[in-house]
Amino acid sequence: MCLKYDKIICRQNGFNVNYICFSLTDPASRFTSAAGGKAFYSYSTNYLIDLRAGIIMDVEATPSTLSQEVGSTKTMIDRVEERFNIKPKKIVGDTAYGAAALLGWLVDKKNIAPHIPVIDKTNRTDDTLSSNDFKWNESADEYRCPEGKALRKNWRPFKNERSHITKADTIIYRSSQRDCAECPNKNKCCPHTPIRKIVRSVHEAARDVARQIRTTAEYAISRCERKKVEMLFAHLKKIMKLDRLRLRGISGAQDEFLLAATTQNLRKMAKWTMKNAKKEQIAMA
Ligand code: SF4
Repeated sequence: MCLKYDKIICRQNGFNVNYICFSLTDPASRFTSAAGGKAFYSYSTNYLIDLRAGIIMDVEATPSTLSQEVGSTKTMIDRVEERFNIKPKKIVGDTAYGAAALLGWLVDKKNIAPHIPVIDKTNRTDDTLSSNDFKWNESADEYRCPEGKALRKNWRPFKNERSHITKADTIIYRSSQRDCAECPNKNKCCPHTPIRKIVRSVHEAARDVARQIRTTAEYAISRCERKKVEMLFAHLKKIMKLDRLRLRGISGAQDEFLLAATTQNLRKMAKWTMKNAKKEQIAMA
């Protein structure tokens, strides 16, 4: 199955308080813009589609914020499983869906293969060593730097056991100050700090699964298939002309998006029926 969202303009007429914009006619909407485009108040329509048939399995309206758009993934996957007893083997999506928490939920909780690029901000561009240059040792629960020294989450025993998990669901691994002080590689590793830190997500194992999938031939196919959902949004706006909502509030947006998706599915099914009827006519002739 494949995921994607698109923004649809809602009723305008807003005002600006301390740089936070509200719509007077529809306060639940969000002031947003496409990359480099003009800002507008909008809701987002989120689709979960069956990749083989191109049928929309579920639709969810959300305010146009990335966290809510991505969060709708869980709602749609759970709802499709509950209603139709269908659970996808793989999920295809773009980088917007590559956050660690969602990948962790897909891999660890739902056992779904994520064909999604990982959001990775660990690569350094200042010519110093990136996290990828350090080797992870699962059994020892530590990193090893290129000099073979350990980076650990704790260097001394604590009276009370600590999880070391931060609010951002990460664990920080630190090198030893003694090791770094005499290291010939220090200027390439941590030139401005006495030790080197590596921040590891608690969902790193799931991120590694997504990274590994990205190297497969199947991922290249999934990447092409992703266009099917883009085409549905293009059809929604260009052919069905749903570029502006008539109803207000999140429930109004949900009603309009659901009706539009139903129309798109009916159109696709009508096309199949026509195709099959033509085939039967040819066979009978
Ligand atoms: S500076 Fe420290 S962490 Fe970095 S390579 Fe040297 S010993 Fe390893």
